[in-house]
Amino acid sequence: MAKMMIERILEIMNQYDRIRNMGIIAHIDHGKTTLSDNLIAGAGMISKELAGQLCVLDFHEDEKERGITIDAANVSMIHNLDGQDYLINLIDTPGHVDFGGDVTRAMRAVDGAVVVCCAVEGTMPQTETVLRQALRERVRPILYINKVDRLIREVKLTPEAMQARFMEIIKKVNQFIYRYAPEEFKEKWQVNVLDGSVVFGSAFHNWALSVPYMQKNKISFKDVIDAYTTNEENAREILREKAPLHVVLLNSVIKHFPNPKEAQAYRIPHLWHGDLESEEGKALINADPNGPAVFVATKIVVDPHAGEVITGRLFSGKLKPGMEVYLLKDNNNKFRIQQVFISNGPKRELVEEVDAGNIVGITGVKDCFAGDTVATKIMQPFEEIKHIFDPVVTKAISAKKPGDLPKLVEVLKQVHKEDPSLKIEINEETGQHLISGMGELHLEVIENRIRREKNVDVVTSPPIVVYRETVRKESPLVEGKSPNKHNKFYIRVMPLKPEMLAIVRELPNQRVNKFNQDLINALQKGGMSYEEAKKVKAIHNANIFVEATRGIVHIGEVIEMVIDMFEDVMKQGPLAREPGFGMKVVLEDAILHEDSIHRGPGQVYPAVRDAIKQAMLQADPVLFEPVQVMQFEAPSEYMGAITKLINAKRGVVLNIDQDEYRAVIEAKLPVAETFGLSAEFRSATGGRGTFFVVDQLFEMLPFELQQKIIKQIRDRKGLAENQL
Ligand code: GDP
Repeated sequence: MAKMMIERILEIMNQYDRIRNMGIIAHIDHGKTTLSDNLIAGAGMISKELAGQLCVLDFHEDEKERGITIDAANVSMIHNLDGQDYLINLIDTPGHVDFGGDVTRAMRAVDGAVVVCCAVEGTMPQTETVLRQALRERVRPILYINKVDRLIREVKLTPEAMQARFMEIIKKVNQFIYRYAPEEFKEKWQVNVLDGSVVFGSAFHNWALSVPYMQKNKISFKDVIDAYTTNEENAREILREKAPLHVVLLNSVIKHFPNPKEAQAYRIPHLWHGDLESEEGKALINADPNGPAVFVATKIVVDPHAGEVITGRLFSGKLKPGMEVYLLKDNNNKFRIQQVFISNGPKRELVEEVDAGNIVGITGVKDCFAGDTVATKIMQPFEEIKHIFDPVVTKAISAKKPGDLPKLVEVLKQVHKEDPSLKIEINEETGQHLISGMGELHLEVIENRIRREKNVDVVTSPPIVVYRETVRKESPLVEGKSPNKHNKFYIRVMPLKPEMLAIVRELPNQRVNKFNQDLINALQKGGMSYEEAKKVKAIHNANIFVEATRGIVHIGEVIEMVIDMFEDVMKQGPLAREPGFGMKVVLEDAILHEDSIHRGPGQVYPAVRDAIKQAMLQADPVLFEPVQVMQFEAPSEYMGAITKLINAKRGVVLNIDQDEYRAVIEAKLPVAETFGLSAEFRSATGGRGTFFVVDQLFEMLPFELQQKIIKQIRDRKGLAENQL
């Protein structure tokens, strides 16, 4: 059976109009895993009875234990529509927002996303977050409304009330699409019941419906309700046979999601900033299997036998074992591809060759991170994958047994490759390394993985918050002089306005080497003039660098060094060596020595670094702290206890939605106060509440805490009193 499946997959692999690359995104518990298993079962890969219990895609121990899907894994399967086989490459994506990084990375590989939304709960905070991530990568959504059986059996809705409930969810999802989709798709990508881009059903009972399917097969809402109310036992059987979930949903997937070639035509110009007229540019736009091979890694798993297994999207060309490829970063190292395979749930099937437009796996390339580009020629890599939330919580981690010291360094490098939204700082001298993640739970999951899967016993420190350094006013023009006094740089630093900051926060770190219309448009939207936007040469950690000198002959020869130092200070600012945030750094003028020997890094680096730091210190510098917007939910009687908890944690209530049964409270809490929140919340609500992170912001740390926290961080980092 499996062999046959592989043969059918291989047959279609080079025919794009019969390929769809898709992901499933949802708020936790809305049924993403149950739906994935159903689709795979429908494709004949696992038995139908087991679907929903087996969790094919959940294979990390930790995920099984917590019952949530953390890592994106992928599977290729066949769906037959009107007598024609289609290849569906499905990437599984996590539902918990602390691990939002995986969703972002998976979206690079796919062209369409099924948004799962529970019919009873409706849209939830993460429905919005994951949809936003998909739309940013120009991934087209369709909506699947799940758990409709509960609407009938528990909520006992009439057909009219049920339709009204669906319309409410559809309206909300369309509002999100309108808000986050790129301009040209705001209207076009609206989901609609009539054309089948909205499907509803029960993943649990293996059925689903869309309006086109209902019309074609003469099924009505009343049939669905009758099936549950007249004979409960038979309900599943009748509906499952008349309208199997995988058939109805995958029909919609094939109809509404673009094939890889259609998708690449509009996705490539925004995800890749090379020359679209070049050989590789044309190959990428056309998903041309005969062009250079260009592959973007979206997931790395370190396998004890196969080594680094890299899954990603092949955007052009072909990949074969034995082929020589470059990893397009740093020194463009060359590797030989050892194996090429397609995934079949947790199983890998080796293949001789794969074509452009598919999601595939390779081994043989070392030190590749998710987001990196691998290609058969040296060329412009893809845009860095921008994670929606920054790592803001750090723990020190060290090996319990001294004998494990070297192994821990290896393991930390591995987990970093597997999850690049982590930040890892290795200190081989002290053996005490730093690991930063998006929240306490994110780090706990990683720690457990290190202990259990990688077999290294570790001890960790309590969590520490990562702050941001920024300025509150414009600095004077500051001169930075090189040690030989022959080179001078004139720099000014100022805060970004809120509307500009909102835009810059969404941009990946980058150096701008050539005209980039997308970037200029974005900056203009934030209020910058076209003239100035053209002079933006780098973006780092939501800070902008502008090169505004005029007529300096050798500026081109030193500018990369200037940007090196811009990035350096934006990683470690002068207040407490915390990252910079929300600033514009402008190089207004420079005096350079005629002879390049006298303006090397030894001269340029200290001059520029000191000038930026001094300018920041003269611009009213302050610490900002990470703040999480959270949604708390519990039976109404606990509302008082929850607001009390929020107030005790320097929190601010933003919104309260309450009826006689449930209270939903949205609040803002400093990350520093969220450690241990799970346990406190559980005891405040008798274990009957839940909470989710909705968004992450940075806000100014209250004045009275500024000096205290700066001193704490400086002491921890061992910085001398006047050391910048
Ligand atoms: P995920 O967190 O989005 O992956 O959600 P799961 O697939 O793990 O589902 C969460 C819970 O909802 C599980 O207990 C499922 O059995 C249940 N569930 C999923 N789909 C349905 C459905 O269509 N109807 C009902 N009644 N329960 C469902």
